[in-house]
Amino acid sequence: MLRLTELKLPLNHPEGAIEAALREKLGLKGGALRAFSVARRAWDARKRSAIELVYSIDFEVADEAALLRRFASHPVLGRTLGPTPDTSYRPVARAPAQVPKRPVVIGTGPCGLFAALILAEMGFRPIILDRGKVVRERTKDTWALWRRGVLTPESNVQFGEGGAGTFSDGKLWSGIKDPQHLGRKVLTEFVAAGAPEEILFVAKPHIGTFRLVTMVESMRAKIEALGGEYRFGTKVVDFIVETGRDGQRRMRGVVTEAGETIETDHVVLAIGHSARDTFSSLHAGGVFIEPKPFSIGVRIEHPQSIIDRARFGDFAGNPILGAADYKLVHHCNNGRSVYSFCMCPGGTVVAATSEPGRVVTNGMSQYSRAERNANAGIVVGITPEVDYPGHPLAGIDFQRHWEERAFVAGGGTYAAPGQRVGDFLAGRPSTSLGAVIPSYKPGVTPTDLSLCLPDFVVAAIREALPAFGRTIRGFDMEDAVMTGVETRTSSPIRIRRDATMRSINTLGLYPAGEGAGYAGGIFSAGVDGIRVAEAVGRDMAGMAAAA
Ligand code: FAD
Repeated sequence: MLRLTELKLPLNHPEGAIEAALREKLGLKGGALRAFSVARRAWDARKRSAIELVYSIDFEVADEAALLRRFASHPVLGRTLGPTPDTSYRPVARAPAQVPKRPVVIGTGPCGLFAALILAEMGFRPIILDRGKVVRERTKDTWALWRRGVLTPESNVQFGEGGAGTFSDGKLWSGIKDPQHLGRKVLTEFVAAGAPEEILFVAKPHIGTFRLVTMVESMRAKIEALGGEYRFGTKVVDFIVETGRDGQRRMRGVVTEAGETIETDHVVLAIGHSARDTFSSLHAGGVFIEPKPFSIGVRIEHPQSIIDRARFGDFAGNPILGAADYKLVHHCNNGRSVYSFCMCPGGTVVAATSEPGRVVTNGMSQYSRAERNANAGIVVGITPEVDYPGHPLAGIDFQRHWEERAFVAGGGTYAAPGQRVGDFLAGRPSTSLGAVIPSYKPGVTPTDLSLCLPDFVVAAIREALPAFGRTIRGFDMEDAVMTGVETRTSSPIRIRRDATMRSINTLGLYPAGEGAGYAGGIFSAGVDGIRVAEAVGRDMAGMAAAA
């Protein structure tokens, strides 16, 4: 099989145009082209009057080597034509007949799910623990906060089956390096679990919330069928670490909140970025943790139609393009950078706190992305050395401080503090909201967002919004609405690991995914889960560790 990349066609091309272009480019007549399929489809909207689709096409010909030879020195085809990469997944280890102690995976977010799946596929029958509830029960608790302002601290947007990305836009792209094509395993498993097949070939795949819920259930069924064992409502509160005569610290088990000890020599720690109590317990237990930069800011909402028009011009509404997204960055005079984060076209802003008395925003959407508003985080990068120096967990105190201020500014009911962009730029509190109706539930209190953000963040966002308005016309419109605070953009810590994926000072502990500081988003968390499970599998099978 061969692959041709960068095949460009106009957005509204007729059905047969791909085959015709492929034949023409490669001089393939009649039966010379045996079969073809679309491996990837992206769009290029830099020129709004002539938006193009950019394809990678996999195809078969009788003599592949001859075709490659023919175009080897062609200025374009020499670069864009080549063998189709083998992206199939093969387990790296096989469990021995007897596994004395089963591996434990903590967390059922994308990282824990994929770690558990890979371990189960290798035959290690992992035990999978999650502090939260099964996804259907969790959905009810999550909606209770959104509809009625009732928070369940162990079952919410952050905690429970499926992890933080279950109620999300389900965006699945990432800029990570993935030479082993582990991301393909993530996507194919998602499709097998019920995701739309197009995620295998569109450049910016997304799933939407409703499907994610059923997919998580379907993956659970698969993992259980392979010998995995789930335990929900099981929070790990302590880690049993033994120091040997060689001075090495070794993981020997975990203790649950119910007081049960589960003995194990291999723990995959996939606890996400909101498990603040667990971070404290790891730190108290001597596991090496260091502070890590993250970002803080607000969510902004605009009518989706404004974003569609600005991005796609007359092509706005085209079904292949769907609801438009954006990615913005502005470098400020005060040395800070402001950027858009986790943009959700046609979605809603959601209450994403896991702790009482705090307000956190984030965004989600359904597959159709058909809601009236576009939303995105507008956040400012912060660094430990400058903004929360001192203690490895100081970033958590920093987050909590501003989340509490947001709770108070919102009125103490889990309503979010909100402000019109016009008022924010003019430095006056909002007393009412305008034409853009905010989607955050249980509600938005018009106020002054500078009450719940550091001054340098307010200054940076004030400078960035007009600059963003020059890139996307209308971005700084008076009635666009901002809600806050967006604090859980990524983990405020990193639990450092070595080349064999183990904690640098605790053998048998495998920090993984977003919480440990090794992923940012569903896709990369899934890939990291696979990598870590492979490392555990190799170690348990007695194989030499991979570099
Ligand atoms: P998590 O998904 O956070 O999973 C951690 C799990 O560990 C949780 O299930 C938790 O209950 C469990 N846990 C924690 N502590 C313990 C303990 N002590 N004992 C037992 N269990 C424990 N990313 C994208 O790529 N695309 C998006 O569109 C997107 N939208 C998002 C929308 C929202 C509202 C949110 C909140 C996040 C969104 N994200 C999105 C980010 C994405 O969800 C995370 O990057 C991803 O879920 C991280 O995966 P993870 O497995 O590392 O951790």
